[in-house]
Amino acid sequence: MKNKALKRLICGLLLVWASLPFSSFALSISSQKDTVADSGYKIKTIIVDPGHGVRPEGAVGHFSPGAPGSYSFERNVTLAIGLKLQLAIEKQMDGVKAVLTRSTEEDVAWQKRADIANANKGDLFISLHCNSLGDKHIRELVGHKHHKPVYRYADVPDRSGRGVLILVYGSWRTKEEEKAIKENLVEGDEEMNSNPDPNDPAEMILMSEYKRKYRKQSIHLAQLLVSEFTADGRRIEGIREQGVLVLCHSAMPAVLIETGYINNPDDEAYLNSEKGQDEIVASIIRALKSYKNEVESASQP
Ligand SMILES: [Zn+2]
Repeated sequence: MKNKALKRLICGLLLVWASLPFSSFALSISSQKDTVADSGYKIKTIIVDPGHGVRPEGAVGHFSPGAPGSYSFERNVTLAIGLKLQLAIEKQMDGVKAVLTRSTEEDVAWQKRADIANANKGDLFISLHCNSLGDKHIRELVGHKHHKPVYRYADVPDRSGRGVLILVYGSWRTKEEEKAIKENLVEGDEEMNSNPDPNDPAEMILMSEYKRKYRKQSIHLAQLLVSEFTADGRRIEGIREQGVLVLCHSAMPAVLIETGYINNPDDEAYLNSEKGQDEIVASIIRALKSYKNEVESASQP
């Protein structure tokens, strides 16, 4: 009798205990659903990040003037496109604000660019750059001496690069890849390109947050950009993952668009023309609109 009562009590308690997690789970699901139904996710702020700039008067530390063309500079092209993109976003995308990380000639350190993006609670980060190839080493036959060929060695500009390249943050390079990428980097871009320091806990947290939350969307936005630039007839070099720190430190999906090669004569003319800049902005706007529609309709109940 005593035993039976105890058994019943234990069974009763077990039942209560067993039903608890399910009911609280069900509760949290339904309240979550309500929150989503009340306020579907909306893209409200897009960060526009024109790369490079001139060193501010009296400033110390590393500043990055960007790559030179034959008559123009990367920093001027990125600012011109950035200003146009800001206007176009605010005019053509209802209810979306565009925040520039740089609106004057002066460079802004990459850490500060990420801070601006985060302080403004950006939903997307679009960094604008121009590509450039370093000199190539050539060997030229100049004659013969004692029946042996005589060569001249020289570094000559390589103007063969052309088209659009999209970078998203990636951090799983080997030492060899790291070295190869460093060698191909345009001077001045090294500082914002690197693998995160495994001994820096803050950096490691940012990196895993990025992988968990933003990598997939960043790659998806890059794919939309590629298809829009392709529609405009631009040559496309594709999407590459690279340790661009400003992309990782901005806690939002982020891409870096190499809008063209400033040291290629055709690309330089295109990048400096109104037509070229307007086309680049229009391609980006079309990709942003598709992205916005997709994520906002996916978040609808
Ligand atoms: Zn650059």
